[in-house]
Amino acid sequence: MEQVAARLAEVDGRIADAARAASRDPSEITRIVVTKFHPVSLIEQLHALGVRDVGENRQQELSAKHEQLDLPDLRWHFVGQAQRNKARAIRQAASVVHSVDRDRLADALDAVGGAPLDVLLQINLTAEAHRGGVAPDEAARLAAHVAGCATLRLRGVMAVAPLGEDPRPAFERLARSAEIVRAEVPEATWISAGMSADFADAVACGATHLRIGSAITGPRPERG
Ligand SMILES: *Cc1c(COP(=O)(O)O)cnc(C)c1O
Repeated sequence: MEQVAARLAEVDGRIADAARAASRDPSEITRIVVTKFHPVSLIEQLHALGVRDVGENRQQELSAKHEQLDLPDLRWHFVGQAQRNKARAIRQAASVVHSVDRDRLADALDAVGGAPLDVLLQINLTAEAHRGGVAPDEAARLAAHVAGCATLRLRGVMAVAPLGEDPRPAFERLARSAEIVRAEVPEATWISAGMSADFADAVACGATHLRIGSAITGPRPERG
């Protein structure tokens, strides 16, 4: 518990420093703690430390943890690849889905219905088409499609920096995709970017939502 508290405070200090260095207000940045593979007891600890945003990347794990914990003020962010046949389960547990990357996934989430669901378009910053995310030149079209889904609220864009590349230019490309999406849907102002190794770069490039795992939780267990 003390270690987690110390790491959380340290990371929050670094987020604040990165924000100030970019002449940004740290309070406009949401720090999501990615808890994948870790037990629910860790989420309870984080909640006791004031964390209200957690992220999971697998639907089954998200659903199981959401079911086990009765923490009504905790917001669950789904940050993994989503399958259409899991749309209902994802929607039951998640407050925000960061990984909408195709029309049919948006349609499946929308078809479940219910209170408006916040979604982000995942942008593929690599040159490899099979990676998760929509190609940057398809983002405007997908944004228009999602904007037409009655029960989805398009809030912005999300991406993972490509491995083995300087994250800065990648996050700059993401900022351009964010502008393109915003031209289509003005209230889509969120940029979800930055993980343990590169969140300071993401803050410098305008990220509003950071997805930070191991720098706060410590090393992940082999598998959940
Ligand atoms: C696991 C994960 C993170 C957090 O990764 P760390 O390197 O542990 O900070 C962020 N985003 C996504 C999509 C993830 O799957």
